[in-house]
Amino acid sequence: MNSKIRVRFAPSPTGFLHVGGLRTALYNYLFARHHGGKFILRIEDTDQARRVEGAMENLMATLGWAGVQYDEGPDRDGGHGPYIQSQRLELYRAHAAELVAKGKAYYCFCAPERLEDLRQRQSAAKERISYDRHCRDLAMSEVEKLLAQGGRSVIRMKVPLEGAVVFQDLIRGEVSIANEVLDDQVLLKSDGFPTYHLAVVVDDHHMGISHVIRGEEWLPSTPKHVLLYQYFGWELPHFAHLPLLLNPDKSKLSKRQGDVAVEDYRAKGYLKEAIINFIAFLGWNPGDERDILSMDELIKEFSLERVGKSGAVFNVEKLDWLNFQHLRKKPDAEVLSMLKEYLAGSPFAGKHFDDQYLMIIIGAMRERATFVQDFVEKCGYFYQAPDQYEPDVVKKRWKPETPDQMKILAEEFSRLENPKKEDYESALHRVAETLKIKQSDLIHPLRLAVSGMGAGPGLYDILIVLGKEETIRRIRSAMERVK
Ligand code: GLU
Repeated sequence: MNSKIRVRFAPSPTGFLHVGGLRTALYNYLFARHHGGKFILRIEDTDQARRVEGAMENLMATLGWAGVQYDEGPDRDGGHGPYIQSQRLELYRAHAAELVAKGKAYYCFCAPERLEDLRQRQSAAKERISYDRHCRDLAMSEVEKLLAQGGRSVIRMKVPLEGAVVFQDLIRGEVSIANEVLDDQVLLKSDGFPTYHLAVVVDDHHMGISHVIRGEEWLPSTPKHVLLYQYFGWELPHFAHLPLLLNPDKSKLSKRQGDVAVEDYRAKGYLKEAIINFIAFLGWNPGDERDILSMDELIKEFSLERVGKSGAVFNVEKLDWLNFQHLRKKPDAEVLSMLKEYLAGSPFAGKHFDDQYLMIIIGAMRERATFVQDFVEKCGYFYQAPDQYEPDVVKKRWKPETPDQMKILAEEFSRLENPKKEDYESALHRVAETLKIKQSDLIHPLRLAVSGMGAGPGLYDILIVLGKEETIRRIRSAMERVK
């Protein structure tokens, strides 16, 4: 069956790629790759009013950045195109006409005012909002007359009045919906564009889609789709509806509680490896202890059987942790090039730093960096001498006698030749002993003097990065400036 596996991601180009959209795309991609099938990108732009200029290009670029590569799509022909629905209008019109001819759909001439009126009456009476099937049984001659007059019309599907639609969902099991709760859905709008329901069925069939993997919000539409497959006499694809994404408070994931556009996370410096890993676990897990997986490992492990039914909580702290883990796994050379790229857009852009110098910073900061920018922002003192000193730390650690002690320490340091960490350490011990003070009375002020801060990587690591001359310069400068 492998070569027959064909899945698709079918976004509407209405804005940025949502994290939920990336989850759908990723699961389709992983499923296709796992089975050696094909992954298709189809653009569903039949709602022209909601179309946003540039959204399609943006979507394609974001998928590309994330490494979710499609085999067929608007810019990758696979013999099933076009892959943009607005370029397939004739096909939808022909299929709508076919359903009318088969008695499975009908023309509806109801004016928008009448429908609005109906909606208001139903809503006032607390009834289910649905079309009252006013035009469902118009005589053929009447339909022809109205069509000849060129009046505004739509085509609606004829939902059976009795019975139920039953289908299997790979995640939710058997789903059964009574036909009486289904509306006579519009299939073709008066502007000649199909609705989502007609287009999605026609395309999934003609593009040979074997598995429809999409968000749970589409589950209520599926019975209508199943009926359409039956009307056309087409084989049903497999359906798999993915669980909802939730905010930590279990409400539906929304913008109000944080970013939902993949781009926002990218702009904040999240690595694609971390985002992919994180998104993959929103509704799925490999069934063992592992939680740090690469794309290749995800492809190997992914299965729809392990996708859960219950909503998946979007927890940004987990994403941060994964970013830290994936950043830590990267080779130094890669971190170096990311750091240089970041520096080029930072306030330090004009200054030159040797690769060797940056490498030492990377070594000192690795265990403290969640993001590449942390190699700069959490330790600006490696790039420029501190111009201020944390007031709390000054208050607690910088005593009236500290400047004199720092002076002696600087003198002791100046006698060292090519000092290593241990040399600084024993020099500090000697001074503490001579002055009969605790080492910590020197260590804390020294950290403050060289970094301006009270915490950071190992103190002697900082001294190694800065070098002896700069260390002494900073101690002297602090002696004058810290008050
Ligand atoms: N165009 C729909 C969307 O925007 C696709 C739903 C489906 O996958 O059938 O998500």
